[in-house]
Amino acid sequence: MASLNDLMISVSGVRGIVGAGMTPEAALKIAEAYGSEFGPGPIVVGRDSRTSGDMIKHAVWAGLLSVGCDVVDIDVASTPTTQMATEKQKAKGGIIITASHNPREWNALKLLSPQGLFLDPETGSKIMARVEKEEFRFAPWNRIGKVIAHPTALEEHIAAIKNLSVLNVNAIRQRKFKIVVDCCHGAGGAILSQLFDWLGCSVIFHDFEPTGLFTRNPEPVPENLGELCAKVKTHQADLGIAVDPDVDRLAFVSEEGQPLGEESTLVLAARFVLSREPGEVVTNASTTQALDDVAAQFDSSVQRTPVGEIHVAMKAAEIKAVLAGEGNGGVMYPPLHLGRDAMVGIALVLQLLAESGGTLSALRASLPQYEMVKEKISLPFSVNAQALVQTLLTLEPAGSVDKLDGLKYHYDKSWVHVRASNTEPIIRIIAEAKSREEAQRLVQKFKKDIQRLN
Ligand code: MG
Repeated sequence: MASLNDLMISVSGVRGIVGAGMTPEAALKIAEAYGSEFGPGPIVVGRDSRTSGDMIKHAVWAGLLSVGCDVVDIDVASTPTTQMATEKQKAKGGIIITASHNPREWNALKLLSPQGLFLDPETGSKIMARVEKEEFRFAPWNRIGKVIAHPTALEEHIAAIKNLSVLNVNAIRQRKFKIVVDCCHGAGGAILSQLFDWLGCSVIFHDFEPTGLFTRNPEPVPENLGELCAKVKTHQADLGIAVDPDVDRLAFVSEEGQPLGEESTLVLAARFVLSREPGEVVTNASTTQALDDVAAQFDSSVQRTPVGEIHVAMKAAEIKAVLAGEGNGGVMYPPLHLGRDAMVGIALVLQLLAESGGTLSALRASLPQYEMVKEKISLPFSVNAQALVQTLLTLEPAGSVDKLDGLKYHYDKSWVHVRASNTEPIIRIIAEAKSREEAQRLVQKFKKDIQRLN
């Protein structure tokens, strides 16, 4: 079989470059292992729009069918749609074929629990151990699974959003928002029109068709949204919206054509939800402290977890949080489901904007202001990035350091978080401060330290 050495294995799933690591053989073995662990029974399979999606999908199907699982085929769908279908169909599990925000030559398998959550690290390791040892429970000829088409998953997802009592769709419809929406040729093209029809928005789509032929780097961060920003101004739209290819990350652009930055998304959603429902918010260690400031305005607080959607989801379930998510534009609204969901994020933020009566730039200006600088150091696969991060402790005083995930140094109104990525061979350094210069200074200092220690 294809070697697993060229695949990135993490709490988020297994990902690799198509043809070099992410091959049909690798996908087949992972599906055989997954089905042996969770099956027999129905397993939901969805995928984003990547050109390798059909190839990987058929390998995943073959693997699942061979160990006696039925495939519930929802075809091109967002990651949150696949998560919800797994939960609502009472399936034995779910597999999402998507490399999320990675460039188009990548693909990946995100493995779900029967509840539609990402796998916890222990269960993920069990599946990978099965792959390594080839411990598969192949079914005899008369117990091989079957493929069941389930084409209504997208409609069911939107219907569940329509039922949320926190939303008042009339308030949004009255504003008749004109929005430019950048789907990046991802799975968003398959679901977002239904949402905007319901919300009464007039939409100009950009890169709408779900072809997988991304024309920009798919991560919805400001430097990748130039065309969207220009189009918002050309069309004199009220705002712009960008999602990543599997539609779990969301970012906004103001009516002036200025990106708000993906960190603002969860802060805006929190401002709306906390105005309606008392309770706590959960996010990861790298998310902006603007979220804590907004929570404090509502006598609420923020609980932090390690980076990784499953950590946030598990903590949100444990403390019954009213909102959760990640600073990368991932909004999780627990009454809907415990997954990052751009569709629900759009609805929550549009209602906040509708009720504010003003523009998105005015709303942005009313949020606590911080500057965040993100930097990454690429490493060869052979370097133990996690161990390298810990060597910083030999340089820095230990008093102010939080070891929840990598190392996070807290200062007055600023912080630096240094951690090994779960999904790529890199170390991320993120700093936030009141000024861009100070955030930049902190990042550069820690970058130099890491380079010196490697
Ligand atoms: Mg994604």
